[in-house]
Amino acid sequence: MYRRERGMSNSTIAQRLATVQERIAAAARAAGRDPASVRLVAVSKTVDAEAVREALAAGQVAFGENRVQELANKVAALPEGCEWHLIGHLQNNKARTAVRAASWIHSVDSLELLERLDRIAGEEGCRPRILLQVNVTGEEAKSGLAPEAVPAAVEAARACANLDCQGFMTMAEFDADEAALHACFAGLRQLRDAMAARYGMALPELSMGMSGDFEIAIAEGATLVRVGTAIFGSRH
Ligand SMILES: *Cc1c(COP(=O)(O)O)cnc(C)c1O
Repeated sequence: MYRRERGMSNSTIAQRLATVQERIAAAARAAGRDPASVRLVAVSKTVDAEAVREALAAGQVAFGENRVQELANKVAALPEGCEWHLIGHLQNNKARTAVRAASWIHSVDSLELLERLDRIAGEEGCRPRILLQVNVTGEEAKSGLAPEAVPAAVEAARACANLDCQGFMTMAEFDADEAALHACFAGLRQLRDAMAARYGMALPELSMGMSGDFEIAIAEGATLVRVGTAIFGSRH
């Protein structure tokens, strides 16, 4: 599924970032959308702080990490200009570290975690932006709320005074073909539209799309794309 960039080893992070930004803009225009309505979250998991600094120098601001400890380490190692997004599964016992380190949490996937994050954010005096992670296709062994569980989670999120619920996140199945990717991303958008209408909330953000499928996600309404490999190279 990965689209490996030709000549990646010969290009710099700044060049690859520019290429990804051009592809994002082209995909947005092709979908009749404003390119500015799609933000790139550069997924820096497993890459060193130096590479993140290079991306930051090239104008990239939003970075995504999937592990809480690595996120906290990167926050400590890098300048304050970075905007940190936690995109990976969050265990309850790491919620406080996550709240301190991240301004966005994309992976809220249970009522228990939602309530814990709300309490901790109140204690820490902050109001993180959160997204509810949905397992759109109902695939087993994948984290995310089942679609049936989403209404109760939206209702609970609305009641959390210390959390700013901005929308939804999903990950497509690993081996999904193009039709299945469209169906998955369209499914998240439709769920968002239904929840926004039902609960009178804006829920503007849809975090979907990675290196191999972000153009399809943009065609289906993604506002945040999480791209690692196409910027930083393949992970070992
Ligand atoms: C690693 C990761 C990504 C980025 O994947 P690439 O294929 O390297 O672009 C996006 N989202 C999540 C949740 C991830 O863990």
